[in-house]
Amino acid sequence: MPQPFPTARRTATNRRMCVVLAVTILGQHGWIPNANGFGQTGHRAVGHIAQRHLTQQALAAVKAILGNETLAEVSTYADEIRSNPDFDYTKTWHYVNIPNGKNYDTAPLNSDGDAIEAIERFTKTLRSKNATDKERVFALKWLGHLVGDIHQPLHVGRAEDFGGNKITCKWFGKSTNLHTVWDSKLIEATELSDTEFAKVCDKASAAEKQKWQNSTVRDWASESLKHRAQAYKEPLPTTAGSYRYSHDNLPLVKKRVNQAGIRLAGLLNDIYGK
Ligand SMILES: [Zn+2]
Repeated sequence: MPQPFPTARRTATNRRMCVVLAVTILGQHGWIPNANGFGQTGHRAVGHIAQRHLTQQALAAVKAILGNETLAEVSTYADEIRSNPDFDYTKTWHYVNIPNGKNYDTAPLNSDGDAIEAIERFTKTLRSKNATDKERVFALKWLGHLVGDIHQPLHVGRAEDFGGNKITCKWFGKSTNLHTVWDSKLIEATELSDTEFAKVCDKASAAEKQKWQNSTVRDWASESLKHRAQAYKEPLPTTAGSYRYSHDNLPLVKKRVNQAGIRLAGLLNDIYGK
């Protein structure tokens, strides 16, 4: 007969493991759970919109880097590698924490990196004449993803609630959290595919497009910071209130996905020539 594992000890061990796990997962600065930025549909829609607004030269450059893959296809790469511990060092790149009343310049800097720093870094890599092919592929995949992330208002988050991850709510009867609602639930509720969602969003006028593209990554983050107040506005989504929350907030999500796509195109057009 195998000896039964002592219950008390198992409980204590489990508790200790949970604490260790929690500390490991959350990290020093992190809000790791569900810090995915727009879900797959949102990220792919950003990629579709961007690809549609590239100049001939930029499109050729993107194809030379990505081969047969499109910006939409590689837009979720940065989330896919999260399960691989070799890429743990990239976890803080998906977001930036800025406390209420501060801006990026006055907020504490995360020494592990953040979304703004990473977008600026990868832009430099793509502009560099000395980058290797491998570095360009990595940079472009990340850039396409992070321009989406930085437009999700809760990715310019408050550290104390992990960008809304700690705020639980109900979405059509199921428990979730505010961050996930903004990452994916609002978009998923439309039941549109990524190409369909891209089409629904991609309706900027030429003037809007020009205005949106004439801005920096720090401007995009400042906009998200401003918009995030809307995400926290009561009442938060409840089972009965999910339609209402969607009605009030989906227009902003669509606008942010569209701006991300148009601006990703603008950035790549600027890098590779107009
Ligand atoms: Zn992300």
